[in-house]
Amino acid sequence: MDAVSHPLVRVETVIASDKTALRVGSAKLIVDGTDTTLVRKAEIALRPSRVRARLLSQLLQFSCDIYNGALQQRRDAWHITRNSAQPISISRFDQFNEVKELKEVCPAIGRFGITPVRGAISRVDEAFGAFFRRVKNGETPGYPRFKSRARFRTIFYDTPTGWHLRGVTPSRPRKDGRPAKAVTAALYVQGVGDIPLTKGAVSQLRRLMARGGEHRTLSITRSRSGAWRACLGFRGVALKPLTETTEIGGVDRGIWVTAALPDGTLLTRPPFLTKARAQIADLQRQREQHEKFSPEWKKINKAVAKSYAKAHRRSENWARHCAIEIVSRYGVISLEDLSLVNMTKSSRGTTEFPGKGVAQKKGLNRSLQDAALARLAYWICVKAEEAGRRVWKVNPKDSSRECIVCGHTDAANRCRARFTCRRCRHEEHADVNAAQVLTARGQVAETSWCAAGCPVAKRTLPRNRRRRGAEPSTTT
Ligand SMILES: [Zn+2]
Repeated sequence: MDAVSHPLVRVETVIASDKTALRVGSAKLIVDGTDTTLVRKAEIALRPSRVRARLLSQLLQFSCDIYNGALQQRRDAWHITRNSAQPISISRFDQFNEVKELKEVCPAIGRFGITPVRGAISRVDEAFGAFFRRVKNGETPGYPRFKSRARFRTIFYDTPTGWHLRGVTPSRPRKDGRPAKAVTAALYVQGVGDIPLTKGAVSQLRRLMARGGEHRTLSITRSRSGAWRACLGFRGVALKPLTETTEIGGVDRGIWVTAALPDGTLLTRPPFLTKARAQIADLQRQREQHEKFSPEWKKINKAVAKSYAKAHRRSENWARHCAIEIVSRYGVISLEDLSLVNMTKSSRGTTEFPGKGVAQKKGLNRSLQDAALARLAYWICVKAEEAGRRVWKVNPKDSSRECIVCGHTDAANRCRARFTCRRCRHEEHADVNAAQVLTARGQVAETSWCAAGCPVAKRTLPRNRRRRGAEPSTTT
């Protein structure tokens, strides 16, 4: 059945990885669970030796120079020819073609290979693509900027050339039953050499390979704290089926209770960031006593970045496990369609129209960001996609004020964490009641979706063209 022809179904914005969400009534189907293979990434820590780290830094600098050079070329072409009859615009492919000629004058290309050069050019292309998209949508555009070496952090490989994995194969037990012989696993990068991989990294990569994944892309990032990380993109990863269930579960996300489920389960995220903040504030006080950019100052700065990164990792890990728990319980998940951009927007206002309750809103913003509700939704979508399950985003209006038993909607029904219906005296934890209301709304959406013949969301880009959500742009 064609997704667009049914009166109930409308195609909406892109949400789940690369598909267009379907709008059914006031709900959106953001994960339709029809994929047979997935695109997944593995993020691993790299521990290069001192020599390799220096070479990686050189490669990063080289990528930065290429990025700035490619940007300069596009700007110049535009500025010089914009008043002429035919302004010249340079495309990504024009620049790709020039790389071969550049090779003769730039020995670094011979050393590191063409792939990272193309990767940097593609990033310029994406920056321009995003710029023109924002111009078209009437948002604040922000022209692509030159990047200093300190701000340029990532080396990109868009194809599996110029790097490969050594000694990482899907683990199979040997014929005699003993585990496979251990080979030193490493990530080989042209011009840099072998970077040994940790045990954790190897098992993460093996798991994706065992599910049929092929590694296609690589990005290597130097974080603010100076640590190196790699992100490998895998294609063709098989699903991870879970126990079949058709039960619908609404998830009420909130600041105090991170996720409430209709069966009464309350999942609360430990205050990772709040804990880290005390430590960070302490470090920041120490930093004030040193001269800016002095070696001591830089050292403390790195420690601050490290502390943030740790809290972030732990919080991300918690969200992932929480999502796995939720997805394993329900076959169809319904989330409220929160507009987090508006919720966390500062209430400060402008100088002419100062906002009200700036301080209170700031506190709320902070705890909202802490709760990382969007990350939880993200992980729920990822895990649901992986298990072939569906995720709905339903209208959140009055979900915390409506009574699940009689449908009476009143702000007075709720008193902090307690929900007591003014009409039928139904009592429940407020967030659990909200989760039950969301479940009911998910059920309505699911029913009308089935009545419409279970249409499937369309891909926004064909599989082989899809990469980082980039739109092909050819203009400058
Ligand atoms: Zn009631």
